[in-house]
Amino acid sequence: MKHFDFVVIGAGIAGLLSAYRLKEFNTLLIDKDDVISNASRAAGAFLFPKVGFDTAYTRFINDAILKSIDFYKGLGINTHTKGVLILPRDERDIEKFKKYEKEIRLPFKKVDNGFFFDIGSVIDPEEVKKKIRVNFEKLEVKKIEQKENYWIINEKIKTKNIILATGAKEVLKIPYIKIRAVWGERIEIKSDLNLSHYYHKNCSVGEIDGVIKIGATHKRDCFECQENEQEALELIKKAREIVDIRDYELLDIKGGFRAASIDYFPVAGKIIDVKKTLLENRHIVKGDLPKEIFYKDGLYIINGMGGRGFSNAVVCSEMLYEYIVNNKDLGKIDTKRLFIKWARKFGEEFLNAKS
Ligand SMILES: Cc1cc2nc3c(=O)[nH]c(=O)nc-3n(C[C@H](O)[C@H](O)[C@H](O)COP(=O)(O)OP(=O)(O)OC[C@H]3O[C@@H](n4cnc5c(N)ncnc54)[C@H](O)[C@@H]3O)c2cc1C
Repeated sequence: MKHFDFVVIGAGIAGLLSAYRLKEFNTLLIDKDDVISNASRAAGAFLFPKVGFDTAYTRFINDAILKSIDFYKGLGINTHTKGVLILPRDERDIEKFKKYEKEIRLPFKKVDNGFFFDIGSVIDPEEVKKKIRVNFEKLEVKKIEQKENYWIINEKIKTKNIILATGAKEVLKIPYIKIRAVWGERIEIKSDLNLSHYYHKNCSVGEIDGVIKIGATHKRDCFECQENEQEALELIKKAREIVDIRDYELLDIKGGFRAASIDYFPVAGKIIDVKKTLLENRHIVKGDLPKEIFYKDGLYIINGMGGRGFSNAVVCSEMLYEYIVNNKDLGKIDTKRLFIKWARKFGEEFLNAKS
């Protein structure tokens, strides 16, 4: 049986970067498909700021955009930074944008009722895959068991720690972490459009080496969704509201399931031992905070990257590393917040079902 310090399950951007951060250890990354498949292969991957009120969420997202651009540049990955013009979608949005103006913390210029950000960038997931190399094995995880101080995967891999980075697919049932799968499609076209910068309105329009990338559609509760030309045409129609696309050749359609948490913040950290924590803190169900939280040793998660995995995963993987190695706080992305919310609503029911 092979032995590891860390096995990261799921080789999308979240798993790849988690394994990369932990490269000083004996770490293995595994996936049933290749590195950067599924949602991560489908991504634009546009690194555009979020425009909105100055909330903790907007700050988190925009901080991640800034950090990710530096991170990719530092690894020699081309960020194709040309700036992005973010435009209001309709009359109501124009009014909202007027309120947002005072709230934006990143440098911007006002252009055509919208905001232009110099930092607007686009990266190529294929380049990320080529430049960030880790120890990888193709394997579908079917069974995870805990034996003494180890975890055993598919009865053939022994590891002290597991990091679950499986995106929209669940490999272990964790009652308090609900990940919603949101289907999306994006396309690549060739046209005579010449972009001096990028755009975002009802969709995002970017470009790498003459290939125009347009993304993305959003479909909730569409578990059977597959790449289709109908959605490609929807995207062309939306892009034509922003830029002058005439003749074009459809080069590629890419689709995938984004993984979103219920409060939109990503989630990372140690998996909580639900039964033990509830039994030791029966007052949680009445709304009190737990005195002590008990965890499953050596079992971690990084998920819920939403529609911004290529920036969120950069900060979340760094925070997870600092949590594991240096015991630093995970703040807003900690698994604890979801557990406490869930326990207040369903804790009693869970304990009754178990007894
Ligand atoms: C159309 C579209 C456009 C997008 N555009 C952007 C964008 O412009 N910018 C941006 O930042 N983000 C974008 N996103 C979002 C981004 O793609 C996601 O946030 C990100 O890819 C999520 O990464 P992940 O690693 O969490 O999940 P995934 O990439 O889905 O990776 C999870 C991996 O886990 C593996 N796995 C699951 N179960 C098992 C198992 N049992 N055994 C082994 N392996 C398993 C899967 O095979 C998969 O490869 C877009 C997404 C879509 C769909």
